[in-house]
Amino acid sequence: MKIALFDDWRVGIVMDDTIADVTSQVPAWDPKWPYNWMLSLIEDFVNIRPRLESAASAAPKLALSNVKLRPPVPVPTKIVAAPVNYALHQQEMGGEGGVYAGAQIKTIEDYGLFLKPSSAIVGHEDTITLPFVKRRTDHEAEIGIVIGKKAFNVTEDDADSVIFGVTGLLDLSVRGQEDRPFRKGFDGFCPIGPWIVTLDELPSLDAMTFRLWVNDDLRQNGNTQNMIYSMRRLVALASYQCTLFPGDIIASGTPAGVGEVRPGDTLHLQVDGVGDLIIHVSRQFAEPAVGMGPWFDKFQSARGAPQ
Ligand code: MN
Repeated sequence: MKIALFDDWRVGIVMDDTIADVTSQVPAWDPKWPYNWMLSLIEDFVNIRPRLESAASAAPKLALSNVKLRPPVPVPTKIVAAPVNYALHQQEMGGEGGVYAGAQIKTIEDYGLFLKPSSAIVGHEDTITLPFVKRRTDHEAEIGIVIGKKAFNVTEDDADSVIFGVTGLLDLSVRGQEDRPFRKGFDGFCPIGPWIVTLDELPSLDAMTFRLWVNDDLRQNGNTQNMIYSMRRLVALASYQCTLFPGDIIASGTPAGVGEVRPGDTLHLQVDGVGDLIIHVSRQFAEPAVGMGPWFDKFQSARGAPQ
């Protein structure tokens, strides 16, 4: 099943190029932030699904092109993200600027995982604003694993029992020397969507293909079979560190081809079996508040080699 949020945070089931409004079947639905009912819907999905399916078959079908899609999990309790998790990306980051020159290229086993704030989430056709004029911001095309159940310390073999589904995900990243949660945590730096596809509808987590274009330029072309840590192993590792809650998202890492995003660009992530996520980049950079002080200029300037 493809589950989307649209317009005023209504809940829809996507079928081909239409969407059926099933909001009336969602317990405690409320269009006001923080949309916790979406996390409850995910947690109780097995029980609610039959009602959603019968409502979807009876509801009028709206054209997808006539609705405004929203991020399918607007406020997860956390986004856990994998750093370098594809061998070719590992090489490009190791080689770039000689950051790790002379040293062994590092992996998840050196870095562990990191967190992105839920405030970074935006959805399909939203516009993001780059924070720093003088610094490079990159796109990272990824797949987001959406957790379905409260989970602690699950094994790889049991991971499917706590995975709700997947969605497209972009891990926007300012390059520089600060810790990842700062460089990757700006508002708009975690586009997800266009919707969630439930696990039962996916042929394989280990052979998913996806591509990212910047404007018309194909930049990334990935296959999850090339992941260093598989999606199931990421679920195991993340759940060993912290209890995962329904709706939590794991950003599974990016393949080779990351590159700069510039004002005015359009990003197009296509995940086979899921869909297309389009993100616009504002022509204007974010402006610091007047009076932020000269200390802020240090953040605006390039700080060492990209990372
Ligand atoms: Mn990433």
